[in-house]
Amino acid sequence: MGKKHAEERKPSRAKTPTFLLELPLVADAGQAARLGSHLEVGRQFYNAVLSAGQRRLRQMRADPAWQAARAIPRTQRQERRAAFSALRERYGFSEYAFHELAKGLRVSWLAEHLDAVLAQTLASRAYRALNRVCLGKARRVRFKSRGRGLSSIENKRNDTGMRFVLEPRAEGRPQGCLLWHDEKLRALIDWDDPVVAHGLAHEVKYARLVRRRASSPRAQGADSEGERYYVQLVLTGLPHHKPKHAVGSQTIGLDLGPSSIAIVPREAEARLEPLCAELRPDARAIRRLQRKMERQRRAANPEHYDEKGRAKKRGKGAPRWKQSRGYQASRRRKAARERRLAAHRKSLHGQLVYQIVAVGHTIVTEKISYTGWQKRYGRSVGLCAPGMLIDQLKRTVASTGGTLHEVPTRSTKLSQYCHGCGQTVNKPLWQRWHQCACGIGPVQRDLYSAFLAAYLDPADLTPSCARYVIPWEGAEARLLAAHERAIQRANEGQVMPRSMGISRAGARLPKSPSEATQELLFLSKRGKVEAWKHRPEPLGLRPGESSV
Ligand SMILES: [Zn+2]
Repeated sequence: MGKKHAEERKPSRAKTPTFLLELPLVADAGQAARLGSHLEVGRQFYNAVLSAGQRRLRQMRADPAWQAARAIPRTQRQERRAAFSALRERYGFSEYAFHELAKGLRVSWLAEHLDAVLAQTLASRAYRALNRVCLGKARRVRFKSRGRGLSSIENKRNDTGMRFVLEPRAEGRPQGCLLWHDEKLRALIDWDDPVVAHGLAHEVKYARLVRRRASSPRAQGADSEGERYYVQLVLTGLPHHKPKHAVGSQTIGLDLGPSSIAIVPREAEARLEPLCAELRPDARAIRRLQRKMERQRRAANPEHYDEKGRAKKRGKGAPRWKQSRGYQASRRRKAARERRLAAHRKSLHGQLVYQIVAVGHTIVTEKISYTGWQKRYGRSVGLCAPGMLIDQLKRTVASTGGTLHEVPTRSTKLSQYCHGCGQTVNKPLWQRWHQCACGIGPVQRDLYSAFLAAYLDPADLTPSCARYVIPWEGAEARLLAAHERAIQRANEGQVMPRSMGISRAGARLPKSPSEATQELLFLSKRGKVEAWKHRPEPLGLRPGESSV
């Protein structure tokens, strides 16, 4: 940031905690049409700012000074920063400059639909999108198409322009309304819902109008286009905390995988669970709809495919893609499914978070790169959203006065470490067991690294053998028990992700060619696994069943 900007910017207000509350709006046909046209103007305005901003970004990057700035080594931080901010200044690539740009673009008929502050928030949004490209965090920006439209618009304050008000009524409880232009949209408020009542008792910072496509125009609350409107209130304060949730005092080690989680507290039952297994049927239904849409798109646009059925390259002047009615219906249905899945996932995450917090509020886990995961295990990361789970856990733990320690993987290497001999050995991904020549194991690897995390000293993050000797005596049995319970659930028909080392038919056995494994394999062929750690009960396999 240049010095000039820093002076011109208002002193930033102290950041207060915020939370969101969403309420459905009632819009009659006329109101919905007018909202639609305001949002359409918003969309065009956003695209205009984005396009002008994109031009600035291109020019800035084409400047030889840009390459020179990039060549400055990262160790010279100040110089590097100064070079880049001089460039940003020259080409007008900053949030402030975008606000100026927006002023110039909001003229004549646009101004009737769009208040100055809303135009400013849209300009900020365009700037943030382009800045991600500038910083290398995104490859390109997306212009909002006419078909999809702008799905939300927000204000910065709640005293002018688009705002939310609570109006007292002669009888009963107050009525909430979103005011915008001359419209007055009634919000549906369930005052008996403690979350809603809690939210409305707090000060509104600003309101955001959200438009979502319903699964069909006949869906409840939808207008003739099948759109539903909501108001999202950004409120000052902390979200409602349900009183029934207890908070424990244990230290817990977590090992989060793309589709599973191992939870090992210092002194309570350990758990190995699939992550969001309940979402899989929904995800399958969405993939089916996706394939259906692809078929419908093909049927309606044969000219876009060559004789081998491949999509042709799109150039300028190519005919537009046609959208059949059936396709539009499938698209709405898919969007509705996706929303339902997201809501379901959120509630599953919430349940898991509260189960964890009920045991303890000091949590140690390895810091993982979710973008890296997304590249490797795209589908399950997209479905289970482990990054979102950790974020929610972090917030909840903080609100109960605990801490979540994310330890850097590079220094701890918990998934490779063995506390018996202190060596780190890289395990290939398929190897779901930790078993070491020094006598530790076999133990499921996720549970083992969660155990290592649980007893890590947050002050000194390098694991040491001495720390683990005593805890291991008590923990080994707990880890085995957690794994057995997982096997049992798999045998009862619950689908387990492959990464847990348990298939539906029963336990997969250690793949290591050591003696213990051979013995185990041999025994399991007869349907009995009794030799493993001298355990009396059969492990995972029902009599007469074979795992090989
Ligand atoms: Zn070892």
